[in-house]
Amino acid sequence: MPELPEVETVVRTLRPSVIGRRIEEARFFTHLILEGKPEPQVNGMTIQSVTRYGKNILLQLNSGILAIHLGMTGKLLVDSVPGKYTRAIFTLDRGAVLYDDIRMFGRIEFDRELPPHIAALGPDPLEIDRDAFVQAVRARKTRIKPLLLNQNFLRGLGNIYVDETLFRAGIHPEAVTSRIKPERLQRLHSVIFDVLQESIQAGGSSISDYVDSAGRQGSFQDQHRVYGKEGASCPTCGAPILRIVVAQRGTHFCAKCQKR
Ligand SMILES: [Zn+2]
Repeated sequence: MPELPEVETVVRTLRPSVIGRRIEEARFFTHLILEGKPEPQVNGMTIQSVTRYGKNILLQLNSGILAIHLGMTGKLLVDSVPGKYTRAIFTLDRGAVLYDDIRMFGRIEFDRELPPHIAALGPDPLEIDRDAFVQAVRARKTRIKPLLLNQNFLRGLGNIYVDETLFRAGIHPEAVTSRIKPERLQRLHSVIFDVLQESIQAGGSSISDYVDSAGRQGSFQDQHRVYGKEGASCPTCGAPILRIVVAQRGTHFCAKCQKR
Protein backbone atom coordinates (compact mmCIF):
# COMPACT_ATOMS: atom_id res chain seq x y z
CA MET A 1 0.00 0.00 0.00
CA PRO A 2 1.36 3.46 -0.83
CA GLU A 3 2.39 5.24 2.37
CA LEU A 4 3.50 8.83 3.00
CA PRO A 5 6.65 8.84 0.80
CA GLU A 6 4.89 7.14 -2.11
CA VAL A 7 1.87 9.47 -1.93
CA GLU A 8 4.18 12.49 -1.62
CA THR A 9 6.03 11.30 -4.73
CA VAL A 10 2.77 10.94 -6.65
CA VAL A 11 1.75 14.47 -5.60
CA ARG A 12 5.10 15.95 -6.65
CA THR A 13 5.09 14.20 -10.03
CA LEU A 14 1.43 15.06 -10.63
CA ARG A 15 1.68 18.79 -9.89
CA PRO A 16 3.44 20.11 -13.01
CA SER A 17 0.94 18.38 -15.31
CA VAL A 18 -2.31 19.35 -13.60
CA ILE A 19 -2.02 22.66 -11.74
CA GLY A 20 -3.99 25.35 -13.56
CA ARG A 21 -5.60 22.76 -15.85
CA ARG A 22 -9.37 22.60 -16.34
CA ILE A 23 -11.21 19.27 -16.04
CA GLU A 24 -13.09 18.91 -19.33
CA GLU A 25 -14.66 15.60 -18.42
CA ALA A 26 -14.47 13.14 -15.49
CA ARG A 27 -15.57 9.58 -16.26
CA PHE A 28 -15.98 6.82 -13.69
CA PHE A 29 -16.16 3.15 -14.67
CA THR A 30 -17.02 1.70 -11.25
CA HIS A 31 -18.98 2.96 -8.28
CA LEU A 32 -16.86 0.92 -5.88
CA ILE A 33 -14.20 3.65 -5.70
CA LEU A 34 -16.97 6.21 -5.05
CA GLU A 35 -18.26 4.12 -2.13
CA GLY A 36 -21.71 4.19 -3.67
CA LYS A 37 -21.96 7.98 -3.73
CA PRO A 38 -23.04 9.90 -6.86
CA GLU A 39 -20.34 10.72 -9.38
CA PRO A 40 -18.45 13.92 -8.53
CA GLN A 41 -19.65 16.78 -10.72
CA VAL A 42 -16.33 18.43 -11.47
CA ASN A 43 -16.53 19.09 -15.20
CA GLY A 44 -15.36 22.61 -16.04
CA MET A 45 -13.53 23.10 -12.74
CA THR A 46 -9.89 24.15 -12.58
CA ILE A 47 -7.29 22.35 -10.46
CA GLN A 48 -5.78 25.03 -8.22
CA SER A 49 -3.44 22.95 -6.07
CA VAL A 50 -2.37 19.38 -5.34
CA THR A 51 -1.36 18.50 -1.80
CA ARG A 52 -0.83 15.44 0.38
CA TYR A 53 -2.79 14.97 3.60
CA GLY A 54 -1.57 11.79 5.28
CA LYS A 55 -2.00 9.18 2.58
CA ASN A 56 -4.67 11.25 0.80
CA ILE A 57 -4.13 13.30 -2.35
CA LEU A 58 -6.16 16.51 -2.32
CA LEU A 59 -6.98 18.39 -5.51
CA GLN A 60 -8.31 21.84 -4.66
CA LEU A 61 -10.86 22.79 -7.32
CA ASN A 62 -12.78 26.08 -7.74
CA SER A 63 -15.57 25.01 -5.45
CA GLY A 64 -14.57 21.90 -3.63
CA ILE A 65 -11.91 19.31 -2.90
CA LEU A 66 -11.39 16.11 -4.83
CA ALA A 67 -9.86 13.68 -2.32
CA ILE A 68 -8.16 10.57 -3.66
CA HIS A 69 -6.90 7.65 -1.56
CA LEU A 70 -4.88 5.07 -3.49
CA GLY A 71 -5.88 2.18 -1.19
CA MET A 72 -3.75 -0.90 -1.90
CA THR A 73 -3.09 -0.70 -5.64
CA GLY A 74 -4.33 2.69 -6.87
CA LYS A 75 -2.24 4.69 -9.34
CA LEU A 76 -2.69 8.18 -10.77
CA LEU A 77 -1.05 8.24 -14.18
CA VAL A 78 -0.51 11.26 -16.39
CA ASP A 79 -1.10 10.79 -20.13
CA SER A 80 -1.10 7.00 -19.88
CA VAL A 81 -2.98 4.48 -22.02
CA PRO A 82 -6.25 3.26 -20.47
CA GLY A 83 -6.29 -0.45 -19.63
CA LYS A 84 -8.58 -2.99 -18.00
CA TYR A 85 -7.82 -1.63 -14.50
CA THR A 86 -8.59 1.99 -15.40
CA ARG A 87 -11.42 3.01 -13.05
CA ALA A 88 -11.64 6.73 -13.86
CA ILE A 89 -10.36 9.17 -16.47
CA PHE A 90 -9.99 12.91 -15.95
CA THR A 91 -9.67 14.55 -19.35
CA LEU A 92 -8.03 17.95 -18.92
CA ASP A 93 -7.86 20.91 -21.30
CA ARG A 94 -4.34 19.64 -21.91
CA GLY A 95 -3.60 15.97 -21.27
CA ALA A 96 -5.40 13.47 -19.05
CA VAL A 97 -5.04 11.73 -15.70
CA LEU A 98 -6.04 8.08 -15.33
CA TYR A 99 -6.95 6.38 -12.09
CA ASP A 100 -5.92 2.71 -12.27
CA ASP A 101 -6.68 0.32 -9.43
CA ILE A 102 -6.46 -3.48 -9.65
CA ARG A 103 -8.00 -4.32 -6.28
CA MET A 104 -10.28 -1.28 -5.95
CA PHE A 105 -9.65 -0.51 -2.27
CA GLY A 106 -8.95 3.09 -3.28
CA ARG A 107 -11.54 5.85 -3.19
CA ILE A 108 -12.32 9.15 -4.84
CA GLU A 109 -14.64 11.64 -3.19
CA PHE A 110 -15.68 15.21 -3.81
CA ASP A 111 -16.83 17.62 -1.14
CA ARG A 112 -17.11 21.35 -0.55
CA GLU A 113 -14.70 21.00 2.35
CA LEU A 114 -12.26 18.44 3.64
CA PRO A 115 -14.41 15.35 4.43
CA PRO A 116 -14.72 14.82 8.22
CA HIS A 117 -12.98 11.43 8.21
CA ILE A 118 -9.94 13.08 6.62
CA ALA A 119 -10.05 16.20 8.79
CA ALA A 120 -10.02 13.88 11.84
CA LEU A 121 -6.59 12.43 10.96
CA GLY A 122 -3.68 13.05 13.31
CA PRO A 123 -0.68 15.34 12.68
CA ASP A 124 1.76 14.76 9.82
CA PRO A 125 4.94 12.93 10.94
CA LEU A 126 7.06 15.40 8.95
CA GLU A 127 5.47 18.34 10.77
CA ILE A 128 4.88 17.24 14.36
CA ASP A 129 7.17 18.88 16.87
CA ARG A 130 9.49 16.55 18.82
CA ASP A 131 8.15 17.29 22.31
CA ALA A 132 4.53 17.06 21.16
CA PHE A 133 5.30 13.64 19.64
CA VAL A 134 6.99 12.35 22.79
CA GLN A 135 4.15 13.57 25.02
CA ALA A 136 1.45 12.16 22.74
CA VAL A 137 3.05 8.70 22.63
CA ARG A 138 3.63 8.54 26.38
CA ALA A 139 0.08 9.67 27.11
CA ARG A 140 -1.25 6.49 25.47
CA LYS A 141 -1.08 3.04 26.99
CA THR A 142 -0.85 0.71 24.05
CA ARG A 143 1.84 -0.95 21.98
CA ILE A 144 4.01 1.25 19.81
CA LYS A 145 3.41 -0.36 16.42
CA PRO A 146 -0.41 -0.23 16.47
CA LEU A 147 -0.21 3.37 17.72
CA LEU A 148 2.06 4.46 14.85
CA LEU A 149 -0.26 2.72 12.36
CA ASN A 150 -3.29 4.56 13.77
CA GLN A 151 -3.99 7.33 11.24
CA ASN A 152 -5.99 9.33 13.79
CA PHE A 153 -2.83 9.45 15.92
CA LEU A 154 -0.34 10.23 13.16
CA ARG A 155 -1.25 10.46 9.47
CA GLY A 156 0.82 8.79 6.80
CA LEU A 157 2.79 5.85 8.24
CA GLY A 158 1.96 2.27 7.26
CA ASN A 159 3.46 -1.16 7.72
CA ILE A 160 6.71 -0.62 5.80
CA TYR A 161 7.78 2.63 7.46
CA VAL A 162 6.71 1.60 10.96
CA ASP A 163 8.86 -1.55 10.75
CA GLU A 164 11.81 0.36 9.27
CA THR A 165 11.69 3.26 11.74
CA LEU A 166 11.26 1.07 14.84
CA PHE A 167 14.29 -0.95 13.74
CA ARG A 168 16.44 2.13 13.23
CA ALA A 169 15.27 3.55 16.57
CA GLY A 170 15.98 0.23 18.37
CA ILE A 171 12.44 -0.06 19.72
CA HIS A 172 10.56 -3.38 19.85
CA PRO A 173 7.25 -3.20 17.91
CA GLU A 174 5.36 -4.47 20.98
CA ALA A 175 6.95 -2.00 23.43
CA VAL A 176 4.34 -0.43 25.72
CA THR A 177 4.19 3.26 24.81
CA SER A 178 3.83 4.67 28.32
CA ARG A 179 7.04 2.87 29.37
CA ILE A 180 9.34 4.00 26.56
CA LYS A 181 11.86 6.54 27.87
CA PRO A 182 11.53 10.06 26.42
CA GLU A 183 15.08 9.98 25.01
CA ARG A 184 14.22 6.89 22.97
CA LEU A 185 11.06 8.55 21.65
CA GLN A 186 13.05 11.66 20.74
CA ARG A 187 15.29 9.38 18.71
CA LEU A 188 12.24 7.70 17.12
CA HIS A 189 10.87 11.13 16.15
CA SER A 190 14.05 12.07 14.29
CA VAL A 191 14.39 8.60 12.72
CA ILE A 192 10.83 8.83 11.35
CA PHE A 193 11.63 12.23 9.82
CA ASP A 194 14.90 10.99 8.29
CA VAL A 195 13.54 7.71 6.89
CA LEU A 196 10.53 9.42 5.29
CA GLN A 197 12.74 12.10 3.72
CA GLU A 198 15.23 9.51 2.45
CA SER A 199 12.40 7.54 0.91
CA ILE A 200 10.88 10.63 -0.74
CA GLN A 201 14.32 11.38 -2.21
CA ALA A 202 14.39 7.81 -3.59
CA GLY A 203 10.90 8.14 -5.08
CA GLY A 204 9.32 5.86 -2.47
CA SER A 205 9.35 2.06 -2.12
CA SER A 206 8.11 -0.09 -5.01
CA ILE A 207 7.28 -3.33 -3.21
CA SER A 208 4.42 -4.64 -5.30
CA ASP A 209 3.13 -2.36 -8.01
CA TYR A 210 3.59 1.18 -6.76
CA VAL A 211 4.71 3.72 -9.39
CA ASP A 212 4.64 7.53 -9.50
CA SER A 213 2.35 9.47 -11.82
CA ALA A 214 4.86 9.13 -14.68
CA GLY A 215 4.85 5.33 -14.23
CA ARG A 216 8.32 5.19 -12.63
CA GLN A 217 9.22 2.87 -9.74
CA GLY A 218 10.83 4.10 -6.54
CA SER A 219 14.07 2.63 -5.17
CA PHE A 220 13.82 2.97 -1.39
CA GLN A 221 13.05 -0.77 -1.12
CA ASP A 222 16.79 -1.27 -1.76
CA GLN A 223 17.46 0.51 1.54
CA HIS A 224 14.98 -1.47 3.64
CA ARG A 225 16.71 -3.12 6.57
CA VAL A 226 13.99 -5.36 8.03
CA TYR A 227 10.73 -5.02 6.09
CA GLY A 228 10.14 -8.21 4.08
CA LYS A 229 13.51 -9.63 5.22
CA GLU A 230 12.43 -12.49 7.47
CA GLY A 231 15.35 -14.93 7.94
CA ALA A 232 17.96 -12.53 6.55
CA SER A 233 20.79 -11.31 8.78
CA CYS A 234 20.27 -8.13 10.77
CA PRO A 235 22.51 -5.49 9.12
CA THR A 236 23.58 -4.30 12.59
CA CYS A 237 24.20 -7.48 14.62
CA GLY A 238 23.83 -10.43 12.24
CA ALA A 239 20.99 -12.14 14.14
CA PRO A 240 18.12 -13.39 11.96
CA ILE A 241 15.30 -10.92 11.24
CA LEU A 242 12.10 -12.29 12.77
CA ARG A 243 8.51 -11.98 11.58
CA ILE A 244 5.62 -11.88 14.03
CA VAL A 245 2.05 -10.59 13.77
CA VAL A 246 1.26 -7.33 15.58
CA ALA A 247 -2.07 -5.56 15.10
CA GLN A 248 -2.91 -8.16 12.41
CA ARG A 249 0.08 -7.00 10.37
CA GLY A 250 3.20 -8.94 9.43
CA THR A 251 5.95 -7.34 11.52
CA HIS A 252 9.68 -7.57 10.87
CA PHE A 253 12.26 -6.86 13.54
CA CYS A 254 15.54 -7.86 15.22
CA ALA A 255 15.04 -9.28 18.71
CA LYS A 256 18.62 -8.35 19.67
CA CYS A 257 18.64 -4.74 18.48
CA GLN A 258 15.07 -3.74 19.36
CA LYS A 259 14.21 -3.41 23.06
CA ARG A 260 10.85 -3.20 24.79
ZN1 LIG B 1 20.16 -6.85 15.16
